Amino acid sequence: RCGFVAIVGRPNVGKSTLLNHLIGLKLSITSRKAQTTRHRITGVLTEADAQVVFVDTPGFQTRHRNALNQAMNRNVTTTLADVDVILLVVEAGRWGPDDEAVLKLIPPDRPALLVINKIDLMADRAQLLPFIERIAAQRDFAAIVPVSAQKGQQLDGLLKAVKPLL
Ligand code: GDP
Ligand code: MG
Repeated sequence: RCGFVAIVGRPNVGKSTLLNHLIGLKLSITSRKAQTTRHRITGVLTEADAQVVFVDTPGFQTRHRNALNQAMNRNVTTTLADVDVILLVVEAGRWGPDDEAVLKLIPPDRPALLVINKIDLMADRAQLLPFIERIAAQRDFAAIVPVSAQKGQQLDGLLKAVKPLL
């Protein structure tokens, strides 16, 4: 199996950290500052049963409509039109208008996975289910996978969910 997988989400949810840990290299740039990833950055994962090209994207911005942000938003839209599978990355327990804006960009006919990142920061796991239900009510997801990109938790589960969609 092989194919292209886009990683999208609002700034700071951990998209670049996820790419880094998925392919095991410090390829994409991570930082606390939004906008670090101005361009698309790709990472190739080669395993016995699959070759996956992950495409990191800049965080989609809705609030600041300057030229750079508009260019980055176009980049996200173009990437989404091109890939086989989309990973919508959100932060556990945090859902806002910027997340909603990214969700709306995902083509309705494209397989998408909901990746709930930073579960290591979620003190009360009982809040996870209502959080997921709120997002899943807005779109069908092929799978919903809670992960910690930073700690490398559940990334194998994420890959397992991605592969059949390629
Ligand atoms: P991006 O803007 O979506 O690409 O986000 P980054 O990958 O640059 O990460 C933003 C911040 O969140 C960085 O300080 C990361 O170290 C942090 N981060 C990313 N993933 C996790 C995670 O699973 N757990 C925790 N606690 N922090 C994370
Ligand atoms: Mg980034």
